[in-house]
Amino acid sequence: MDLKEEIHVYEGFPKDGISFKDINSLILNPKAFKHVIDEMSQVAKALDADLVAIPEARGYIFGTPLAYLIGAGLVPVRKPGKLPGEVSSMAYDLEYGSNVVEIQEKAIKPGDRVIIVDDLLATGGTMMATAKLVEKLGGEIAGIITLIELTELGGRELLKNYFIHSIVTYP
Ligand code: 5GP
Repeated sequence: MDLKEEIHVYEGFPKDGISFKDINSLILNPKAFKHVIDEMSQVAKALDADLVAIPEARGYIFGTPLAYLIGAGLVPVRKPGKLPGEVSSMAYDLEYGSNVVEIQEKAIKPGDRVIIVDDLLATGGTMMATAKLVEKLGGEIAGIITLIELTELGGRELLKNYFIHSIVTYP
């Protein structure tokens, strides 16, 4: 199945110069969505993970069925101020400004093996901050799984110490 046909590309969204890959068109097609979750779960089964960490919002879409299929727990990775109780944070730089991701401290126990799942890997900033946050809480990164990888933006190089599986690549 050609998944690229299901991913609509919007030039100039959300601003000029960006070629936005829209996964909403893919998840609308049940065969394409199943294909993606089946491939992700095949890869994930070999990684022997306890938990799946899901950056909001699009990581939720793929990470939730994946965790269900492999029998892992889910760890939401959220923007600041959304999670109650003790939270741990990690900041990372963007082209302009910075972002912060947060996880509840009790979500990860030392030694837990964690897969991070998102829709798209670009510069790797979001993944790297999430991986560092998991490690700060004592977890181990079992691997990174993403539907789309933009190969020319350097994410794979930044994350070279981790196993990465992507399903569809664009330059
Ligand atoms: P990075 O941190 O690797 O530079 O960017 C990846 C994050 O930005 C992911 O959480 C992803 O959801 C979002 N993102 C960046 N560009 C796109 C895009 O073209 N399409 C989609 N669906 N998400 C994007």
